[in-house]
Amino acid sequence: MTDRQSDQDKALPPYPHSASGKLYDAIAAEGRFALQRCRDCAQFLYPAHDVCPSCLSTTLPLTEAPPRGRIASETTIRATTNPYFQTHLPIRIGLVILDCGPTMIAFLQEGTGMGDRANLSFHLDAFGRAMAWAARSKT
Ligand SMILES: [Zn+2]
Repeated sequence: MTDRQSDQDKALPPYPHSASGKLYDAIAAEGRFALQRCRDCAQFLYPAHDVCPSCLSTTLPLTEAPPRGRIASETTIRATTNPYFQTHLPIRIGLVILDCGPTMIAFLQEGTGMGDRANLSFHLDAFGRAMAWAARSKT
């Protein structure tokens, strides 16, 4: 291992995790796919909100959500100045329109790309933070 690799391994995530983002850490640790869902209008929300953008309700419990969607776009990140991500290059991410409504940016598993149906899941990174992943669905 070079000194540079050692420094990269110690690199911290590029931004602090917000309180609302931490909601998904516990969901990922449990192996679940849940999103906030407005108790008053039933809309699923992502990312986390304090108030429903449709009806202004503040009752937004985490609720199991159908983890399926379609990848609307994709891109490959080949360079970054951020040490946290440098060891993971190239990084493929995509915009996924969930069947239940929200749009989510997710890391794309190998063989997954624009136009594909996808299954979504949350996984924890090395720092215990939830990361959304999309894998190509056969159906
Ligand atoms: Zn609502």
